[in-house]
Amino acid sequence: MTTRAIGFGVGSLPRIARGEGSYLIDTAGRRYLDGSGGPAAFSIGHGNREVNAAIAAQLERVACAYRYLFSSEPLERITELILRKCGGDFGHVVFCSGGSEAVESALKIALQYWHAAGRSGKRRFIARERSYHGNSLGALSVSGFAERRRPFEGSLLDVSFVSAANAYRPAGGVALSELANHLAAELDERIRTLGAEQVAAFIIEPVVGAAGGVVPPPPGYLPAVRAVCDRHQVLLIADEVMCGSGRCGTWRALEPEAVVPDIMVVAKGLAGGYIPLGATIATRAIGDVIVAEQGAIMSGYTYSGHTAACAAGVAVQEIIERENLLERVRSNGPALRAALAQTLDRFEEVGDVRGRGYFIGIELVRDRATKAPFPADRAISHRIARRALENGLICYPCAGHVGEAMGDTLIIAPPYNASDAELSELIGKLTRSIEQELAP
Ligand code: PLP
Repeated sequence: MTTRAIGFGVGSLPRIARGEGSYLIDTAGRRYLDGSGGPAAFSIGHGNREVNAAIAAQLERVACAYRYLFSSEPLERITELILRKCGGDFGHVVFCSGGSEAVESALKIALQYWHAAGRSGKRRFIARERSYHGNSLGALSVSGFAERRRPFEGSLLDVSFVSAANAYRPAGGVALSELANHLAAELDERIRTLGAEQVAAFIIEPVVGAAGGVVPPPPGYLPAVRAVCDRHQVLLIADEVMCGSGRCGTWRALEPEAVVPDIMVVAKGLAGGYIPLGATIATRAIGDVIVAEQGAIMSGYTYSGHTAACAAGVAVQEIIERENLLERVRSNGPALRAALAQTLDRFEEVGDVRGRGYFIGIELVRDRATKAPFPADRAISHRIARRALENGLICYPCAGHVGEAMGDTLIIAPPYNASDAELSELIGKLTRSIEQELAP
């Protein structure tokens, strides 16, 4: 089985010159509207002068103060900001340089917590099919993403997978009204089978990203699995690398469900791609036990809390706050989704338009009625994304989330501060690209 790639061979990629707000411009002067924030990362667009000035000023002072020797103002400010945004249950933050590292920290915090609590038997993780948590071995182990796991099978952790929570393609064909209970019962059963005394944590993406093509949780699902975890004393880890930091219109993606995870993970949108920055956040209840018993959370890297990266995070988050961008995402998101659904409705191949805030998935199917996917070798999502790039639009194709290797979705995730005119341009260019690619 070969890996499907977007099809830009090395050497044929456009060469980037600069970024300006919602646009990237290559050295030939071509402009690309960033309709997906790259991989849902660039929360406030590119080339922001205020962020760049904050980074430059920090670099002038000191680029990085090693965390074992020093604290710093940017580190303290981003810590305070994250805890304030997350709400009172949370009390501990450890930093790193991206999503995979942050997921590693989350898994290790769960293990360290149970060790500190005198229950070292709890070592196993449960995760979901059609999920992605990162490319390092631990994070890949909890990822239900066959295509990315395949070359490494045999060396991954022994993780137990339960069904994906997908209202468009419900596990076992269960009715939507029954889906949350069905999936919660499956999790409950799995924990019992493995033995609750063996299970450390259940990890989920509140809104699934690349592995499912933006899959929001079915109604009632998140409170239901939270209750199952509580019943069995299994920690709940929310991986909000893609869907968090405001992408869905709330700072925590789980806020609308009023569900508080024990550990959560953010990265991409936190510093908006200006400098790599990730964070793992634990509740007081979890972190306090670790600190009391073992002194500190044992997860750190040389560049944890990198000073200039923290300064970038502070600057990005302050702009989001000052310009009320989450309010904008919250109020504009449904309209953007509805406009896409309406405009694309004439294509029989558009099966589903779904999402939250500025995190939207457009699933492409061979047959709208049966939801039958396109054959994998047609690589339809990648072809449309390539066509869109030629038309000056960046969108994020994902494939392989149906059956063995089928399924095609385009992810739309514009910068939170994209203008209304840019959002209209996005819809127009996407529509044209789909039309051109589907034309017989
Ligand atoms: N978790 C989720 C939900 C992701 O979408 C990703 C990356 O796409 C990761 C973790 C890994 O993040 P990174 O690529 O920054 O290591």
